[in-house]
Amino acid sequence: MTANAKGQFTFPGGVHPPDSKTLTEDSPIQIAPVPKQVAIMLSQHIGAPCSPTVQKGDEVQAGQVVGNADAFVCAPVHSPVNGKVKEIALRSHVVLGRVQAVIIDVDLENNPPKKINPEKYTNGFDFDAISPLQIRDTVRNAGLVGMGGAGFPTRVKLEPNEQSPKKIMIVNACECEPYITCDYRMMLENPEQIIAGVKLAKKASESPRVIIAIEDNKPKAIQMMARKLRELHGTENIEIAAVKTKYPQGGERQLITSVLNQYVPTGGIPPMIGILVLNTATTAAIAEAVIADWPLTHRVVTISGEGVSNPGNYYCSIGTSIAEVLEFAGGTNSEAVRIISGGPMMGIAIADLDTPITKTSGAITVLTKQQIGKAKFANQQTPCIRCGRCLEICPEQLNPTKIAHAVKHELLDTAQTYFMTACIECGCCSYVCPANIELTGYIKTGKILLARQKKKMPQ
Ligand code: SF4
Ligand code: SF4
Repeated sequence: MTANAKGQFTFPGGVHPPDSKTLTEDSPIQIAPVPKQVAIMLSQHIGAPCSPTVQKGDEVQAGQVVGNADAFVCAPVHSPVNGKVKEIALRSHVVLGRVQAVIIDVDLENNPPKKINPEKYTNGFDFDAISPLQIRDTVRNAGLVGMGGAGFPTRVKLEPNEQSPKKIMIVNACECEPYITCDYRMMLENPEQIIAGVKLAKKASESPRVIIAIEDNKPKAIQMMARKLRELHGTENIEIAAVKTKYPQGGERQLITSVLNQYVPTGGIPPMIGILVLNTATTAAIAEAVIADWPLTHRVVTISGEGVSNPGNYYCSIGTSIAEVLEFAGGTNSEAVRIISGGPMMGIAIADLDTPITKTSGAITVLTKQQIGKAKFANQQTPCIRCGRCLEICPEQLNPTKIAHAVKHELLDTAQTYFMTACIECGCCSYVCPANIELTGYIKTGKILLARQKKKMPQ
C-alpha cells in the first residue's frame, strides 16, 4: 500500500459534504415487519433480465427462485416470503423505468420475520472442504450481485481470468455517501459473517491477497474488524486499511488509487489490472449463500434523513415497496420534500412510492428543503462563472462544465471528446457549483441519449 505525504490513503479530487451519519450510526439493525406484498423485479442487475419461472396463482416458498435466465451475465431472483403469485406486472424501477416484476401476496399467517443469525458464521464451517468452483456456482444460484449500487453479478466478478489473474481483492467498506450506515452497522454487529464471506470470495476468485478498506471516520468498525479478523483468521494475506474520509472514496476506481496507488485505465474496469473489488454487504451475502445455504432475499437498508420520523437501519425483504419501508421508520414528517433511493450525492429522487427495494437498495433518504438548499430546491441556476471548482474536484479529472454544455446543445460527439462516459456520476461537480448548475444531471442525460443513439436502449 502507498500513502500520500501525510500518511493518508487517498485519491485526487473529491469533496467533504456533511456526513450526517449521526442520525443512524448508533441504531442497531432492526428486523423489519413482514410486508403485505412484495414485487420481485426481474431486472435487478447488470446483464440479461430474468424471465419469470412462476405464474399467476402459483404458491411460492421463501427462498424459491421466481425468475432466471441462462445468460452468463445474469443472476436469478428469489421470493423472500411464503405466498401466492398475484400477477406478473410492470413496476417502477429507480433507474430502468418500468420493469416486469413477480408480485407476491404474502401469507401473513405463515411468515415469521427472517433473522440475521450471526452465530452461523462463528464455527463449524470447513473452508478447506469447498472448492472455488462450488463457491462460484453457489453464489450464482443464490442470485448475488454487487450490493453497493452497481448490481454486477458476483459470480462473473469472481471468475478467474487466465489472461489477467487476480492479484488482489479489495473489500469496499468505505460507505462514503452521507447518511448511509448499513454496512457500518453490519461491520459492528456481524463481523463474523463479513469475514467468512471475505475468505470464501478470496478462495473463489483465487486472489492471493485481500485488503479491507474502511474510511478513517469509522474507528469502531476498524477496531472490530481487526479484532475479529485476528480471532477468526489470523492476519495472513487479509489486511485492513484505514483510508482517508473523503467523498467518493467508495468509488472503486478511487479506492484502487487510494489503496494501491494504481489507476484503472479510462473506460476500463478493475479486472483488467488484476483487481477485484467487492462491497461489504456482498461479502456478507456470499457467507449466507455458502454457509447458511440461503439466497439473497433480504438486505439491510438505512432509512434516514431529516424528513423521516425514526431514522434507522432495517433488515428488509427485497421487493418491499418504498412506501412500506418508510412506514417501518415511522413515515415522513411535515418537513419532507424529497425521497431519494440511495444517498444525496449519487441517489435518485423517486416519485412513485410503490417502487420496490431491490438487491442494490442500500438506503432511502428523505430530505427537507433546508438540507437540499433553497436555491437548489427551486432549481435556480445561474450562468457559469468559470470558477473552475468543478474541474478541481472531479475525481476522474474530467471537465464537467464542457461536457454539460455539449449535452445541453445536444452535441453528443463533442461531449464524448471530453470523455463523457468516463464520468462515474458521483455528483461532486453539482455539489460544488456556485451557480447551482446540475452538471451531473446533464451528464447522466447525455449518457442515456448516447446509449439510445447506439440503440442500446429503447426510445
Ligand atoms: S463529471 Fe462525473 S465524475 Fe466528475 S465530478 Fe461530475 S459527476 Fe463526478
Ligand atoms: S463550478 Fe459551476 S460555475 Fe464553476 S466552472 Fe464549473 S460549472 Fe462553471
